Amino acid sequence: MKTLVVGMEKSGRAAAEFLRARGDEVTATDLKPQDVPGFRLQSDELFDEAWDRIVISPGVPADLPALERGRKRGVDVIGEVELAAPFIKGPVIGITGSNGKTTTTSLVGHILKSAGIATQVGGNIGKPVIAMVETSREEQWNVLELSSFQLETIRTFRAHVGVCLNVTQNHLDRHHTFENYASAKGNLFRTQKPGDHAVLNAEDAVCRSFAMLTPAETFWFGKHMIREGAIWLNGQWLIDLDEIPIPGMHNAENVMAAAAAAHFAGASRDQIAAAVKTFKAVEHRLEFVADIDGVKFYNDSKATSVDATMKALDSFAANLWVILGGKDKGSDYTVLRERLHKKARAAVLIGAAEEKIASQIEGAVKVIHAGTLDRAVAEAWAAAEPGDTVLLAPACASFDQFRSYEERGQFFKELVNGLANGAAAKD
Ligand code: ADP
Repeated sequence: MKTLVVGMEKSGRAAAEFLRARGDEVTATDLKPQDVPGFRLQSDELFDEAWDRIVISPGVPADLPALERGRKRGVDVIGEVELAAPFIKGPVIGITGSNGKTTTTSLVGHILKSAGIATQVGGNIGKPVIAMVETSREEQWNVLELSSFQLETIRTFRAHVGVCLNVTQNHLDRHHTFENYASAKGNLFRTQKPGDHAVLNAEDAVCRSFAMLTPAETFWFGKHMIREGAIWLNGQWLIDLDEIPIPGMHNAENVMAAAAAAHFAGASRDQIAAAVKTFKAVEHRLEFVADIDGVKFYNDSKATSVDATMKALDSFAANLWVILGGKDKGSDYTVLRERLHKKARAAVLIGAAEEKIASQIEGAVKVIHAGTLDRAVAEAWAAAEPGDTVLLAPACASFDQFRSYEERGQFFKELVNGLANGAAAKD
């Protein structure tokens, strides 16, 4: 097969490598020059050559005019996940949603591995699906995080267990309309077979619509699974909410979805409960860092939007020192006022957005101007009392002071661990 692979990030490279190893004639392309075999710079002329197949990376819009022209000529245009479909061995748990994918995927992987069920985890996190083919086995579960871009082009890719956590406005720059975006996620359920399982959020309108288009059996998760402060699975007690180590109702939802998926993969209720209790938050996502003299520190550096910061604030009862700020994305911070007023002792502000945030939350909560993250941690620590929580949930991008949210979260953890080592100094 004469194949053009478009986009030379991780998954495009893996796709090109996979096809070349199988003996296909592969041309790799990207808008920027890349050091890969068979590379040619992207152009309309290149797309219009006689390809049997064009494999696009998740970053490449599936509706590019050049791709539409190709489809009209009968060229098969697919993504890396569909490319993997005929080759991947073993059953698949596919997990999608606008929020919570990485957490839930990691949680399912952790539960299955803890239960001694052979499992490999990847997709949108870690290894691309096509790069998992080689290590896939008939008896091994593939737990895959799948984004709307990866699902946009699937036709035969089948999830024995499909999970959708929620569908909210997201990525409309690429999908143009909410319907297109929802439809891409819906493909995960459209391609299932009778006897498969669809794990869907009962409280999400789009998830409810997926039940209509899947031949799989539907499992509904949601608030109806919570009774007497605990999660119940199929009418049986699973775990008390306060035993879940990742905070917030949104994480309780992730646990319910993960528990159902793991159950369909053969994990018992006891195994699921035991594994959930030992789950560590994915790094930078409401990650517990340390308890120093009764003051807890949480790193939610991934909270780069106001929405995510609201979720973080909703995850704690009170007594918060919230570190906010960084590079503003044109956000409206006034929506944080009520939660800050109720839950925070102070907002500790950093970065380029400091003045804007200060003016928008003025009067709702005490404001501390810290400028930098190290001063913010020092000031919060100096003022905090036992029982308080210092939360980094900045509602902003990191690029004014850091290279990425990962680097920001890493630095926060180093600062906190520095405090832990010198804790005696507080007195
Ligand atoms: P994703 O991989 O879909 O981006 P993550 O697991 O990385 O999701 O979580 C990113 C952020 O999304 C979290 O910090 C939290 O603010 C929010 N979040 C996580 N799970 C949920 C959920 N089930 N519903 C709504 N928001 C969630």
